[in-house]
Amino acid sequence: MKSLQLTEFGKPLQWKEYETPQPQGREVLLRVAACGVCHSDLHIWEGYYELGGDERIYVKERGVDLPLTLGHEVVGEVEAAGPDATGVKPGDKRLIYPWVGCGTCKYCRSDRPQMCSKPRSLGVYTNGGYASHVLVPDSQYLLNIDGLPDEQACSYACAGLTAYSALKKSMPLEWDETLVLIGAGGLGMMAVQVVRELTNARVIMLDVDDARLQTVRELTPDVETLNTSGGDVVASIMEMTGQKGANAVIDFVNNQHTAASAFGMLAKNGQMVMVGLFGGKLSFPTPVPALKNLTIRGSYTGSLTELRELIAIIKEKKLRPVPVKTYPMDEAARLLDQVRDGKIIGRAVLTP
Ligand SMILES: [Zn+2]
Ligand SMILES: [Zn+2]
Repeated sequence: MKSLQLTEFGKPLQWKEYETPQPQGREVLLRVAACGVCHSDLHIWEGYYELGGDERIYVKERGVDLPLTLGHEVVGEVEAAGPDATGVKPGDKRLIYPWVGCGTCKYCRSDRPQMCSKPRSLGVYTNGGYASHVLVPDSQYLLNIDGLPDEQACSYACAGLTAYSALKKSMPLEWDETLVLIGAGGLGMMAVQVVRELTNARVIMLDVDDARLQTVRELTPDVETLNTSGGDVVASIMEMTGQKGANAVIDFVNNQHTAASAFGMLAKNGQMVMVGLFGGKLSFPTPVPALKNLTIRGSYTGSLTELRELIAIIKEKKLRPVPVKTYPMDEAARLLDQVRDGKIIGRAVLTP
Protein backbone atom coordinates (compact mmCIF):
# COMPACT_ATOMS: atom_id res chain seq x y z
CA MET A 1 0.00 0.00 0.00
CA LYS A 2 1.05 3.62 -0.24
CA SER A 3 0.15 6.70 1.73
CA LEU A 4 0.78 10.43 1.73
CA GLN A 5 2.68 10.88 4.96
CA LEU A 6 3.27 13.87 7.16
CA THR A 7 6.84 13.38 8.35
CA GLU A 8 7.56 16.91 9.61
CA PHE A 9 4.98 19.51 10.68
CA GLY A 10 4.46 22.18 8.03
CA LYS A 11 6.52 20.33 5.40
CA PRO A 12 5.10 18.82 2.17
CA LEU A 13 3.36 15.45 2.48
CA GLN A 14 5.34 12.59 0.95
CA TRP A 15 4.25 9.39 -0.77
CA LYS A 16 5.56 6.35 1.10
CA GLU A 17 5.20 2.76 0.03
CA TYR A 18 5.01 -0.07 2.57
CA GLU A 19 3.60 -3.52 3.14
CA THR A 20 -0.19 -3.76 3.18
CA PRO A 21 -1.27 -4.81 6.69
CA GLN A 22 -3.15 -8.07 7.28
CA PRO A 23 -6.21 -7.43 9.47
CA GLN A 24 -6.16 -9.31 12.79
CA GLY A 25 -8.99 -9.97 15.26
CA ARG A 26 -11.82 -7.53 14.57
CA GLU A 27 -9.75 -5.31 12.26
CA VAL A 28 -10.84 -4.51 8.71
CA LEU A 29 -8.69 -3.37 5.78
CA LEU A 30 -10.36 -1.04 3.29
CA ARG A 31 -9.24 0.32 -0.07
CA VAL A 32 -9.84 4.09 0.06
CA ALA A 33 -12.52 5.31 -2.37
CA ALA A 34 -12.92 8.91 -1.12
CA CYS A 35 -11.39 10.99 1.66
CA GLY A 36 -12.66 14.44 2.65
CA VAL A 37 -10.21 17.25 3.37
CA CYS A 38 -11.07 18.87 6.68
CA HIS A 39 -9.95 22.16 8.20
CA SER A 40 -8.49 20.23 11.14
CA ASP A 41 -6.17 18.39 8.69
CA LEU A 42 -4.64 21.80 8.14
CA HIS A 43 -4.06 22.30 11.88
CA ILE A 44 -2.45 18.88 12.23
CA TRP A 45 -0.29 19.50 9.15
CA GLU A 46 0.82 22.88 10.54
CA GLY A 47 1.27 21.31 13.97
CA TYR A 48 -0.72 23.68 16.16
CA TYR A 49 -4.01 25.39 16.99
CA GLU A 50 -4.11 29.16 17.57
CA LEU A 51 -5.39 30.06 21.04
CA GLY A 52 -5.45 33.82 20.50
CA GLY A 53 -2.77 36.36 21.26
CA ASP A 54 0.56 34.62 20.64
CA GLU A 55 -0.53 31.38 22.29
CA ARG A 56 -0.79 28.03 20.55
CA ILE A 57 -1.57 24.42 21.46
CA TYR A 58 0.85 22.12 19.68
CA VAL A 59 -0.74 18.94 18.38
CA LYS A 60 2.40 17.09 19.45
CA GLU A 61 1.58 17.95 23.06
CA ARG A 62 -1.86 16.47 22.48
CA GLY A 63 -0.28 13.13 21.53
CA VAL A 64 -0.03 13.42 17.74
CA ASP A 65 3.06 11.49 16.63
CA LEU A 66 4.80 11.56 13.25
CA PRO A 67 4.97 10.06 10.72
CA LEU A 68 1.22 10.22 10.27
CA THR A 69 -1.20 9.75 7.40
CA LEU A 70 -3.91 12.42 7.58
CA GLY A 71 -7.53 11.96 6.56
CA HIS A 72 -10.45 11.19 8.88
CA GLU A 73 -13.39 11.41 6.44
CA VAL A 74 -13.03 8.09 4.67
CA VAL A 75 -15.21 5.86 2.52
CA GLY A 76 -13.59 2.63 1.38
CA GLU A 77 -14.23 -0.80 -0.04
CA VAL A 78 -13.56 -3.74 2.26
CA GLU A 79 -10.58 -5.70 0.98
CA ALA A 80 -9.99 -8.06 3.91
CA ALA A 81 -11.45 -8.58 7.38
CA GLY A 82 -9.91 -10.17 10.48
CA PRO A 83 -11.37 -13.51 11.68
CA ASP A 84 -13.52 -11.87 14.39
CA ALA A 85 -14.82 -8.95 12.32
CA THR A 86 -18.60 -8.95 11.88
CA GLY A 87 -21.07 -7.52 9.38
CA VAL A 88 -18.65 -6.99 6.50
CA LYS A 89 -17.24 -8.98 3.61
CA PRO A 90 -14.79 -8.11 0.83
CA GLY A 91 -16.36 -5.77 -1.71
CA ASP A 92 -18.65 -3.98 0.78
CA LYS A 93 -18.56 -0.17 0.61
CA ARG A 94 -18.39 1.43 4.07
CA LEU A 95 -18.06 4.82 5.78
CA ILE A 96 -15.57 4.82 8.66
CA TYR A 97 -16.43 6.33 12.05
CA PRO A 98 -12.95 7.75 12.77
CA TRP A 99 -13.30 8.92 16.43
CA VAL A 100 -12.06 5.66 17.87
CA GLY A 101 -11.07 5.52 21.55
CA CYS A 102 -9.38 3.01 23.85
CA GLY A 103 -12.49 0.82 23.86
CA THR A 104 -12.54 0.21 27.61
CA CYS A 105 -13.04 3.53 29.49
CA LYS A 106 -16.47 4.77 30.59
CA TYR A 107 -16.78 7.05 27.56
CA CYS A 108 -15.94 4.30 25.09
CA ARG A 109 -18.34 1.91 26.84
CA SER A 110 -21.16 4.45 26.72
CA ASP A 111 -20.93 5.37 23.02
CA ARG A 112 -18.87 8.53 23.52
CA PRO A 113 -15.45 7.42 22.22
CA GLN A 114 -14.87 10.97 20.95
CA MET A 115 -14.43 11.92 24.65
CA CYS A 116 -11.85 9.17 25.36
CA SER A 117 -8.64 10.35 27.01
CA LYS A 118 -6.61 7.77 25.05
CA PRO A 119 -7.94 8.54 21.58
CA ARG A 120 -6.94 6.50 18.54
CA SER A 121 -8.83 8.64 16.01
CA LEU A 122 -8.02 7.73 12.43
CA GLY A 123 -6.08 10.40 10.56
CA VAL A 124 -5.30 12.22 13.83
CA TYR A 125 -3.55 9.74 16.15
CA THR A 126 -3.40 6.71 13.82
CA ASN A 127 -3.03 6.50 10.05
CA GLY A 128 -5.99 7.79 8.04
CA GLY A 129 -7.29 8.04 4.51
CA TYR A 130 -4.76 10.05 2.48
CA ALA A 131 -3.68 6.62 1.29
CA SER A 132 -4.50 3.66 -0.93
CA HIS A 133 -5.64 1.63 2.12
CA VAL A 134 -6.71 2.18 5.68
CA LEU A 135 -6.83 -0.29 8.58
CA VAL A 136 -9.83 0.10 10.91
CA PRO A 137 -9.37 -1.39 14.41
CA ASP A 138 -12.89 -2.81 14.75
CA SER A 139 -15.70 -3.64 12.31
CA GLN A 140 -18.20 -1.87 14.59
CA TYR A 141 -16.84 1.47 13.29
CA LEU A 142 -18.03 0.77 9.73
CA LEU A 143 -21.35 2.14 8.48
CA ASN A 144 -23.41 1.00 5.52
CA ILE A 145 -23.97 3.91 3.11
CA ASP A 146 -25.80 2.07 0.31
CA GLY A 147 -27.26 4.54 -2.14
CA LEU A 148 -25.02 7.48 -1.22
CA PRO A 149 -22.16 8.51 -3.53
CA ASP A 150 -18.73 7.99 -1.92
CA GLU A 151 -17.67 11.62 -2.25
CA GLN A 152 -20.89 12.78 -0.57
CA ALA A 153 -20.86 10.20 2.21
CA CYS A 154 -17.25 10.61 3.39
CA SER A 155 -17.68 14.10 4.88
CA TYR A 156 -20.51 12.99 7.14
CA ALA A 157 -17.85 11.30 9.34
CA CYS A 158 -16.49 14.65 10.53
CA ALA A 159 -18.11 17.78 9.09
CA GLY A 160 -21.59 16.24 8.98
CA LEU A 161 -21.34 14.54 12.37
CA THR A 162 -19.89 17.64 14.06
CA ALA A 163 -22.66 19.83 12.65
CA TYR A 164 -25.37 17.30 13.55
CA SER A 165 -24.13 16.80 17.12
CA ALA A 166 -23.90 20.58 17.68
CA LEU A 167 -27.43 21.02 16.31
CA LYS A 168 -28.76 18.32 18.63
CA LYS A 169 -27.14 20.06 21.60
CA SER A 170 -28.94 23.31 20.70
CA MET A 171 -32.35 21.59 20.71
CA PRO A 172 -35.23 21.70 21.47
CA LEU A 173 -36.19 24.93 19.72
CA GLU A 174 -39.80 25.94 19.08
CA TRP A 175 -41.19 27.46 15.87
CA ASP A 176 -41.19 30.97 17.39
CA GLU A 177 -37.54 30.76 18.47
CA THR A 178 -34.38 31.64 16.55
CA LEU A 179 -31.29 29.58 15.84
CA VAL A 180 -28.27 31.47 14.50
CA LEU A 181 -25.55 29.56 12.68
CA ILE A 182 -22.20 31.31 12.25
CA GLY A 183 -19.97 30.31 9.33
CA ALA A 184 -21.14 28.79 6.03
CA GLY A 185 -18.03 26.65 5.55
CA GLY A 186 -18.11 22.86 5.38
CA LEU A 187 -19.66 22.47 8.84
CA GLY A 188 -22.21 25.23 8.41
CA MET A 189 -23.34 23.82 5.06
CA MET A 190 -23.83 20.40 6.62
CA ALA A 191 -25.87 21.99 9.42
CA VAL A 192 -28.08 23.79 6.91
CA GLN A 193 -28.63 20.56 5.01
CA VAL A 194 -30.03 18.72 8.02
CA VAL A 195 -31.42 21.46 10.32
CA ARG A 196 -35.04 21.12 9.13
CA GLU A 197 -35.06 17.49 10.29
CA LEU A 198 -34.51 18.72 13.85
CA THR A 199 -36.50 21.93 14.24
CA ASN A 200 -38.96 24.32 12.60
CA ALA A 201 -37.43 27.30 14.44
CA ARG A 202 -36.32 30.35 12.48
CA VAL A 203 -32.77 29.74 11.22
CA ILE A 204 -30.37 32.55 10.27
CA MET A 205 -26.95 31.78 8.77
CA LEU A 206 -24.20 34.40 9.10
CA ASP A 207 -21.13 34.61 6.89
CA VAL A 208 -18.95 37.26 5.27
CA ASP A 209 -19.10 35.75 1.78
CA ASP A 210 -22.08 36.23 -0.55
CA ALA A 211 -21.28 33.19 -2.69
CA ARG A 212 -21.40 30.92 0.34
CA LEU A 213 -24.66 32.49 1.55
CA GLN A 214 -26.15 32.02 -1.91
CA THR A 215 -25.27 28.30 -1.69
CA VAL A 216 -26.94 28.13 1.73
CA ARG A 217 -30.20 29.54 0.33
CA GLU A 218 -30.10 27.06 -2.54
CA LEU A 219 -29.56 24.18 -0.14
CA THR A 220 -32.43 25.03 2.23
CA PRO A 221 -34.52 27.94 0.93
CA ASP A 222 -36.23 28.77 4.24
CA VAL A 223 -32.91 29.44 6.00
CA GLU A 224 -32.33 33.21 6.14
CA THR A 225 -28.88 34.63 5.52
CA LEU A 226 -27.04 37.72 6.68
CA ASN A 227 -23.73 39.02 5.36
CA THR A 228 -21.89 40.22 8.46
CA SER A 229 -18.95 41.97 6.81
CA GLY A 230 -18.92 45.53 8.04
CA GLY A 231 -22.16 45.94 9.98
CA ASP A 232 -22.95 45.53 13.68
CA VAL A 233 -23.92 41.85 13.78
CA VAL A 234 -25.47 41.86 17.23
CA ALA A 235 -27.61 44.90 16.44
CA SER A 236 -28.79 43.28 13.19
CA ILE A 237 -29.85 40.06 14.92
CA MET A 238 -31.57 42.02 17.68
CA GLU A 239 -33.49 43.97 15.07
CA MET A 240 -34.40 40.84 13.10
CA THR A 241 -35.73 39.16 16.26
CA GLY A 242 -37.71 42.11 17.66
CA GLN A 243 -34.98 42.68 20.31
CA LYS A 244 -35.41 39.14 21.70
CA GLY A 245 -32.08 37.80 20.45
CA ALA A 246 -31.11 34.28 19.47
CA ASN A 247 -32.32 31.33 21.54
CA ALA A 248 -29.37 29.30 20.32
CA VAL A 249 -26.20 30.18 18.45
CA ILE A 250 -23.83 27.61 16.98
CA ASP A 251 -20.46 29.12 16.18
CA PHE A 252 -18.73 27.06 13.51
CA VAL A 253 -15.96 29.68 13.25
CA ASN A 254 -15.44 30.48 16.92
CA ASN A 255 -12.77 33.16 16.67
CA GLN A 256 -12.68 36.16 18.99
CA HIS A 257 -15.04 38.21 16.81
CA THR A 258 -17.65 35.56 16.12
CA ALA A 259 -17.64 34.29 19.72
CA ALA A 260 -18.14 37.84 21.05
CA SER A 261 -21.04 38.35 18.63
CA ALA A 262 -22.55 34.98 19.53
CA PHE A 263 -22.43 35.84 23.22
CA GLY A 264 -23.84 39.32 22.61
CA MET A 265 -26.86 38.14 20.63
CA LEU A 266 -28.09 35.46 23.08
CA ALA A 267 -31.67 35.72 24.29
CA LYS A 268 -32.63 34.98 27.89
CA ASN A 269 -32.14 31.27 28.59
CA GLY A 270 -30.14 31.14 25.36
CA GLN A 271 -27.45 28.62 24.54
CA MET A 272 -24.15 29.15 22.76
CA VAL A 273 -22.44 26.10 21.25
CA MET A 274 -18.76 26.64 20.42
CA VAL A 275 -17.53 24.39 17.62
CA GLY A 276 -14.93 26.03 15.35
CA LEU A 277 -11.20 25.90 15.99
CA PHE A 278 -10.17 29.21 14.43
CA GLY A 279 -8.80 30.42 17.75
CA GLY A 280 -9.11 33.56 19.86
CA LYS A 281 -10.18 34.64 23.30
CA LEU A 282 -13.59 35.58 24.63
CA SER A 283 -14.23 37.90 27.55
CA PHE A 284 -17.62 38.83 28.94
CA PRO A 285 -19.11 40.34 32.08
CA THR A 286 -19.61 37.44 34.49
CA PRO A 287 -23.04 38.46 35.83
CA VAL A 288 -24.60 38.20 32.36
CA PRO A 289 -24.76 34.38 32.07
CA ALA A 290 -26.29 34.24 35.55
CA LEU A 291 -28.81 37.02 34.98
CA LYS A 292 -29.84 35.67 31.57
CA ASN A 293 -29.68 31.99 32.59
CA LEU A 294 -27.33 31.24 29.69
CA THR A 295 -25.61 28.03 28.70
CA ILE A 296 -22.19 28.22 27.08
CA ARG A 297 -20.81 24.93 25.91
CA GLY A 298 -18.44 23.31 23.44
CA SER A 299 -19.05 20.46 21.04
CA TYR A 300 -16.45 18.10 19.60
CA THR A 301 -17.36 15.74 16.71
CA GLY A 302 -20.08 13.27 17.81
CA SER A 303 -20.85 9.70 18.79
CA LEU A 304 -21.13 6.56 16.67
CA THR A 305 -24.88 6.51 17.35
CA GLU A 306 -25.21 10.10 16.14
CA LEU A 307 -23.36 9.21 12.91
CA ARG A 308 -25.76 6.27 12.40
CA GLU A 309 -28.73 8.62 12.97
CA LEU A 310 -27.35 11.17 10.54
CA ILE A 311 -26.74 8.61 7.79
CA ALA A 312 -30.26 7.22 8.31
CA ILE A 313 -31.74 10.74 7.93
CA ILE A 314 -29.69 11.50 4.82
CA LYS A 315 -30.68 8.20 3.19
CA GLU A 316 -34.34 8.34 4.12
CA LYS A 317 -35.02 12.01 3.39
CA LYS A 318 -32.86 12.19 0.27
CA LEU A 319 -31.67 15.65 1.35
CA ARG A 320 -30.07 17.90 -1.20
CA PRO A 321 -26.30 17.29 -0.94
CA VAL A 322 -23.74 19.89 0.08
CA PRO A 323 -21.59 20.87 -2.94
CA VAL A 324 -18.53 18.65 -3.25
CA LYS A 325 -15.51 18.91 -5.53
CA THR A 326 -13.20 15.97 -6.01
CA TYR A 327 -9.44 16.10 -6.57
CA PRO A 328 -6.80 13.45 -7.17
CA MET A 329 -4.93 12.41 -4.02
CA ASP A 330 -1.72 13.96 -5.38
CA GLU A 331 -3.28 17.40 -4.97
CA ALA A 332 -3.70 17.10 -1.20
CA ALA A 333 -1.05 19.71 -0.40
CA ARG A 334 -2.49 22.26 -2.83
CA LEU A 335 -5.94 21.63 -1.39
CA LEU A 336 -4.78 22.24 2.17
CA ASP A 337 -3.57 25.67 1.00
CA GLN A 338 -7.00 26.39 -0.46
CA VAL A 339 -8.70 25.28 2.75
CA ARG A 340 -6.45 27.66 4.68
CA ASP A 341 -7.34 30.51 2.34
CA GLY A 342 -11.07 29.78 2.76
CA LYS A 343 -11.46 29.19 -0.97
CA ILE A 344 -13.53 26.00 -0.78
CA ILE A 345 -17.32 26.16 -1.08
CA GLY A 346 -18.86 23.09 0.51
CA ARG A 347 -16.42 20.22 0.74
CA ALA A 348 -13.22 19.10 -1.01
CA VAL A 349 -12.70 15.37 -1.38
CA LEU A 350 -9.65 13.36 -2.47
CA THR A 351 -10.11 10.31 -4.66
CA PRO A 352 -7.51 7.72 -5.66
ZN1 LIG B 1 -11.74 5.20 25.96
ZN1 LIG C 1 -12.56 16.95 10.54
